[in-house]
Amino acid sequence: MEAFEYAHPTTQHEAIGLLGSKWNDAAVLAGGTDLISLMKEYLVTPKRVVNIKNVEGLNGIHSNAEGVTIGALVTMDELLENATIRSEFPALTQAAGGITSPQIRAMGTVGGDLCQRPRCWYFRNGYGLLAKDENGKSLVPDGENRYHAILGNSGPAYFVNPSSLAPVLIALGAKLQLAGTKGQREVRASEFSVIPKSDEERENVLKPDEMLTHIVIPASSHGLRSATYEVRQKTALDWPLAAAAVAVKLEGGKVREGRIVLGHVAPIPWQAREAEKELEGKSITESAAASVGEAALRGAKPLSQNGYKVQLAKVAVKRALLAAAKGEA
Ligand SMILES: Cc1cc2nc3c(=O)[nH]c(=O)nc-3n(C[C@H](O)[C@H](O)[C@H](O)COP(=O)(O)OP(=O)(O)OC[C@H]3O[C@@H](n4cnc5c(N)ncnc54)[C@H](O)[C@@H]3O)c2cc1C
Repeated sequence: MEAFEYAHPTTQHEAIGLLGSKWNDAAVLAGGTDLISLMKEYLVTPKRVVNIKNVEGLNGIHSNAEGVTIGALVTMDELLENATIRSEFPALTQAAGGITSPQIRAMGTVGGDLCQRPRCWYFRNGYGLLAKDENGKSLVPDGENRYHAILGNSGPAYFVNPSSLAPVLIALGAKLQLAGTKGQREVRASEFSVIPKSDEERENVLKPDEMLTHIVIPASSHGLRSATYEVRQKTALDWPLAAAAVAVKLEGGKVREGRIVLGHVAPIPWQAREAEKELEGKSITESAAASVGEAALRGAKPLSQNGYKVQLAKVAVKRALLAAAKGEA
């Protein structure tokens, strides 16, 4: 690990002042479950590490007329134990519950989950975010791509967004509050992740001098039926192969509106808009859920080794819809 300066601010203002104008100037440290391994592998080499664990105002889950606000420092365990989240947003509890490691649940934060870097093994082995060879060509399409993207993969990025919480937050219409040297701003959860065009860019809209402070699930999402369904190779330490988060408003047994967001299949959480349209006005029966699953994957373009993920994602959509309709938590 490269030597770095360590800072442990206690206020947001102080923390932001310690960030820099370039990514290499500083890195935010929350639970450290991803950042520390990135630093040990020299994949990120910040000159300063800004530990935000003691920054006031970033903890806790609070409800008011606007909705439910989750502090960026809330851990997976705290999210799982929260009664409001459990009863109102089962999809979020199910997604956090999929992370089975007690250590990650105890240390990993919601903010860190949304900002964690891709697990692409080319990136993790030092080939850069876009995994290019010396001629600037991606190594992924002709390489080891069994865990890579099947949607949104026309390049230059082929990794999958690793966050299990992001698809749920998009389905629930959440907003993310960011704070930086130029002030505060709010972005929709659906606009937070982006597909980088170069190795110098990042996978989200955060700027080097900004941090994520809160996640707000709007009051309008109360009463939605939501569910997450993940397909995992094993229940131990690993990320899902494919997942779907859905949130639907039912009226008279039929879907008035619904959001369907796929996880771990594209460089960003993938909102299946065509499938959402197909769902509108339908009762969620076994066959309707299956045909919406088909619609969600209609644009999939699997790479040489990951065709199997198409079927997994279809099934994830179908089962998430059926679970949401039944109100299974
Ligand atoms: C074996 C294993 C299995 C896992 N399985 C899953 C899984 O199935 N699903 C899943 O979603 N995740 C999974 N994870 C990832 C885990 O959830 C994340 O590592 C964790 O949530 C990151 O949180 P952290 O607080 O430790 O972040 P850190 O390691 O402290 O930070 C991670 C990144 O986010 C940045 N960051 C953190 N907080 C902020 C903030 N508030 N503002 C701006 N930037 C910030 C850091 O600079 C860093 O780049 C797994 C991890 C491991 C090791």
